[in-house]
Amino acid sequence: MKPNYSRMLEQKLQKISEAKEKPTLLLHSCCAPCSSYVLEYLREYFKITVFYYNPNITASSEYEYRLGEEKRLIEAYNRQVETQDFTGMHSTQNAEKIGILEAPYDPERYLEAVKGYEDCPEGGDRCGICFAMRLRESARAAAQNGFDCFTTTLTISPLKNASRLNEIGERAALEYGVPFLPSDFKKKNGYKRSIELSRAFSLYRQNFCGCAFSRRDTVDGSSV
Ligand code: SF4
Repeated sequence: MKPNYSRMLEQKLQKISEAKEKPTLLLHSCCAPCSSYVLEYLREYFKITVFYYNPNITASSEYEYRLGEEKRLIEAYNRQVETQDFTGMHSTQNAEKIGILEAPYDPERYLEAVKGYEDCPEGGDRCGICFAMRLRESARAAAQNGFDCFTTTLTISPLKNASRLNEIGERAALEYGVPFLPSDFKKKNGYKRSIELSRAFSLYRQNFCGCAFSRRDTVDGSSV
């Protein structure tokens, strides 16, 4: 039987809600729309820093645009905490302000790692390499900066395999000695809520995953 990662997360959150101090969480985020629900959900339980490490977004203009949207969302959430105005949100007054840590943009590293896998369909081996690259870097950054745990927004996508992501996250956690927070954020209407929040904040919702190969296969059919 497959583990229920959503329930595992709920159990951990229950324990955290009984503790005196909120733990720190380094949250790898792929983009503002995916992080919208995850931040709304988790900001009551953790002191969150968003980790923006996405070398898989091979076009620099797309990378910058998504990063700008992420910052805009975080600013909006932080304003809610400052003003204690959570109108239309599921968050309560326990919500914490959110920080951001930007990693250097190194698409060459991604392209090198996926060499030979360019023609894999989305969801195949290229994505496994891509997930591992981003989660290992997140674990490394979490350990280096003394975070209590780390996780990723990626499990919110119905196109991404949550079991695979959680297994990769667990391996990265063992490698770097920092706990991984299990998740399946699409569950409990998480994906639906991310669409509502994206609308509410007028976020840019891209129509391809990130790499030039996903753009080729889903948007324009161009050669890359
Ligand atoms: S399709 Fe998405 S997850 Fe897969 S390799 Fe490209 S950017 Fe990474």
